[in-house]
Amino acid sequence: MIRSITKQKGTEEIVALLEGIERVFIVGCGTCVTMCRTGGAPEVEEMSQRLTGVGKFITGTMMIPVACDEISHEALSEHDEAINQAEAALIMTCAFGVQTIGRQLQIPVIPALDTLFIAKERGVGLFEEICTQCGDCVLGDTGGLCPVTSCHKGLVNGPCGGTNNGKCEIDPDKDCVWTLIYDRLKAQGKLDRMRRYQPPRNNQVSPMPGKIFIPIEERSE
Ligand code: SF4
Ligand code: SF4
Repeated sequence: MIRSITKQKGTEEIVALLEGIERVFIVGCGTCVTMCRTGGAPEVEEMSQRLTGVGKFITGTMMIPVACDEISHEALSEHDEAINQAEAALIMTCAFGVQTIGRQLQIPVIPALDTLFIAKERGVGLFEEICTQCGDCVLGDTGGLCPVTSCHKGLVNGPCGGTNNGKCEIDPDKDCVWTLIYDRLKAQGKLDRMRRYQPPRNNQVSPMPGKIFIPIEERSE
């Protein structure tokens, strides 16, 4: 399962973002942030107590099943009274959820989390980034393993000089992805791929802000 990985902002930063705001409504989400334990029901309750402790008045809290879903406005409307009493909503979801909810509320939305990356769940509680969505994919030459995401230096033309017995010099607990790529290509009889020169990364391939329109006749059925 693919997840948005988040971490909570520190109390000091949240309090600074809430400067001049006394009445706060808190929103958590039932999907990724619940799994990350950054914005699930227990964290919403803990945040409520924390903010009460620094003098804020919590007008209410709620959990949205899927905050990034456009129909989250239906869940929000069930809490109209408490939301209308608040001067701002503290959103304990990924940035996608914050922006979705921000479009549905009149009051300001304040993010309580930082969104780190998109990851695949490898085991219970273990999330691993699989793609930074760089827009210039090299997987065809790297045996399907991503060096942009998995190499600590983001190298795309082979390993640095620090590979040590197949481990990364920056994190000795982690396999050097270029050793994994070498082993994979060797097993596939495609080691020649490692000799292909990857030109300097083009960091301007993604439109800012990201937006794309696919004409209907070009869409696959
Ligand atoms: S090179 Fe890596 S980060 Fe870039 S698109 Fe491919 S998998 Fe994603
Ligand atoms: S040891 Fe391997 S994974 Fe680590 S920085 Fe060097 S090339 Fe990248």
